[in-house]
Amino acid sequence: MNDTIHATAAELAARIASGAQSAEEITRLHLDRIAAVDEQVNAFLAVDAERALAQARAVDVKRASGAPLAPLAGVPVAVKDLFCYQGLPTTAASRMLESWVPPYNSTVVDRLLASDLVILGKTNLDEFAMGSSTETSAFGPTRNPWDLGRIPGGSGGGSAAALAAFEAPLAIGTDTGGSIRQPASVTGTVGVKPTYGGVSRYGVIAMASSLDQPGPCARTVLDAALLHQVMAGHDPADSTSIAAPVPDVVSAARKADVKGLRIGVVRELGGEGYAPGVEARFAAAVELLASLGAEIVEVSCPHFVHAFAAYYLIMPAEVSSNLARYDGMRYGLRVGDDGLASTEQVMRASRAAGFGDEVKRRIIIGSYALSAGYYDAYYGSAQKVRTLIRTDFEAAFRQCDVLVSPATPTTAFRFGERLTDPLAMYKSDLCTIPANLAGNAAASVPIGLADEDGLPVGLQIMAPVLADDRCYLVGAAVEAGLTEQWGGPLLDRVPALKEKAR
Ligand code: GLN
Repeated sequence: MNDTIHATAAELAARIASGAQSAEEITRLHLDRIAAVDEQVNAFLAVDAERALAQARAVDVKRASGAPLAPLAGVPVAVKDLFCYQGLPTTAASRMLESWVPPYNSTVVDRLLASDLVILGKTNLDEFAMGSSTETSAFGPTRNPWDLGRIPGGSGGGSAAALAAFEAPLAIGTDTGGSIRQPASVTGTVGVKPTYGGVSRYGVIAMASSLDQPGPCARTVLDAALLHQVMAGHDPADSTSIAAPVPDVVSAARKADVKGLRIGVVRELGGEGYAPGVEARFAAAVELLASLGAEIVEVSCPHFVHAFAAYYLIMPAEVSSNLARYDGMRYGLRVGDDGLASTEQVMRASRAAGFGDEVKRRIIIGSYALSAGYYDAYYGSAQKVRTLIRTDFEAAFRQCDVLVSPATPTTAFRFGERLTDPLAMYKSDLCTIPANLAGNAAASVPIGLADEDGLPVGLQIMAPVLADDRCYLVGAAVEAGLTEQWGGPLLDRVPALKEKAR
């Protein structure tokens, strides 16, 4: 079977369950693909071939014994290098943690293993998940399979690129301001940020704890839903985990019906600064939703224009606090310890050497925003804006079932284009940030290629807190409608990568 790497996770699971193909063979073909193309893509920071094959063989043995299999048993998955997984370094793409091997698993990793998924390895990201392009990774950027001269989004560019390069059928991400949805948008893949607290943060390297949320990345909406189901659910080890039943995302993805649904188009997420090709594809997607029987209404969320400013105070404030632990004393890099240096000198030298520029910038901004005398003016005001964003969402959701917008203002940009202009880089997340501030669920699904550059465009679907299923319902309807128009999945059009001879 030579179409294994192009198959969906749902198809692969069905093959494994029926015995049509072994989990071991499926894993081996993905490892081969990684070996053949990842030098060009750089989606993976670590490949865990031996352990992955052993996990796959265990699934094959389980099946042969007649024991029941979990829905995604034997399907390979790639994990962002921000999740602790024993036996491999967890680097956060930083020199600071380059050789740190965690002594425990994150809850998400434990859940993947308990459901018998096969972990291929760890994917690249911006350093400590700070960025929108993977260019701040200490281990080199990931390249976008649609155009190797362009960024794959960030911070979870490695996970998104691994999907678009057919190196893995499933991947795991985290989304603090858009790091699942923005990479999904610019690589033509599907990414979902669950409701805050829906998926455990235990064992995930913290960036901004009140915003961070792990979630699924996939090539189809159903695959994302199947993975969401595995990841989500209450975890007593995470104090912000919600003790509520997981929304039935899989049934919603299968239903894919928007008839009678009220869909709000957010007026503030469009217009100036949005690429014409993005706006055109977005308008066409809204038209499709109307033709499928949804009722389209325009809604205003007046405070969304301030979301960006509030995020870039709250996030660095939490970053400055969370990253204080990397001081050369307990974890990771320790430099300057010549036996004579003071503790403070070692801390200073370790942090200077271990962190990259973007991380330092945020620690400095965050420390400033939290300092006595500025706290109320900056952090305090930003928290008030955060409340206003939440009330905007609440008002909008009294009028409609879901909200939609472009997932990103532009398509994938070229390497270096925004690296020297932090503000331009930060604006990549203009559309995605409000959902992080309010904590509600949001997804990006592919809606076509922009006319001007032939690059993928994503539709953002935002749903109320704990109504994650609506993202899947609408996402699957859009996906079904457009796949029919295109005559096949959008990712069929990714240029073929040259495979390295082995
Ligand atoms: N790009 C955004 C930032 O740099 C979001 C990052 C994220 O979601 N981890 O903060």
